[in-house]
Amino acid sequence: MADVTPAQFELLDDRFTGINGDYVVERLWTGARKTEGPVYFPAGRYLVFSDIPNDRLMRWDETTGATGVFRAGSGYANGGTIDRQGRLISCEQGNRRVTRTEHDGTVTVLADRWEGKRLNSPNDVVVRADGSIWFTDPPYGILTDYEGNQGESEIGASYVYRIDPHTGAVTVVAEDFQRPNGLAFSPDEKKLYIADTRGEPSHIRVFDVQDDGTLTGGKIHALCTFGRFDGLRVDAAGRIWAATWEGVHVFAPDGDLIGKLLMPESVSNLTFGGPKRNQLYITAATSLYTLRVTVNGAQYPA
Ligand code: MG
Repeated sequence: MADVTPAQFELLDDRFTGINGDYVVERLWTGARKTEGPVYFPAGRYLVFSDIPNDRLMRWDETTGATGVFRAGSGYANGGTIDRQGRLISCEQGNRRVTRTEHDGTVTVLADRWEGKRLNSPNDVVVRADGSIWFTDPPYGILTDYEGNQGESEIGASYVYRIDPHTGAVTVVAEDFQRPNGLAFSPDEKKLYIADTRGEPSHIRVFDVQDDGTLTGGKIHALCTFGRFDGLRVDAAGRIWAATWEGVHVFAPDGDLIGKLLMPESVSNLTFGGPKRNQLYITAATSLYTLRVTVNGAQYPA
């Protein structure tokens, strides 16, 4: 552990008691313009993550500690996840599509249009146990050429979508967001949490997932008290771990902020990895960080 800083956990509520881990946060790699989209692959024990403005996906190997380029020319991939078959699902925000990398390495387009119109720039994605794929579509990848390809929004709004596991149909499941961003299911997958980055303040809303793949509810569930929310994950106890500009904020299932993990750089996203899903991987600005914690991620995919 050469490149470490003290792990700064901040207790705000008794329910955060006992949630901690390593004494230090380890910086595994640095050299990105903007990291995002950490995806852990348990079978191979590696982590794929995005370096968005450099248009590449990186791969960090848990068994050797080596980092290399996984894919140069990634379509400015942003958020990602792993499906139940162990395949990488990517939000290629520059290519304005969601893709799946097959076991043979070929790339399949899962969604690039809605009602004939090109998507804006898919940002983050999650897979449900039934195989449905849910993603957010703010315009960050088309606003400028910095982290995508500048272009017009054909849809003219920022929706949340679901890809049907049987038909591949792309449907809108939420249309009243300003900038939908990170999203994650509760452990029982009956609730879906979705961040709205632009809200004032930035916040997370909670929806009930219906059997037919629609969402109901949608009330504001958690507020961001420092900067804005981006990616989020849920642990096995249903707590929400959300990326903010000062670190990771942890919320009880009822939405109360119970603690923080302060980080050296602004956090974009995180995931639970390792054989026990208790290794927290954090993408923050130029770097990839990790520490082992006393909780476990909800499940794969996460
Ligand atoms: Mg995001």
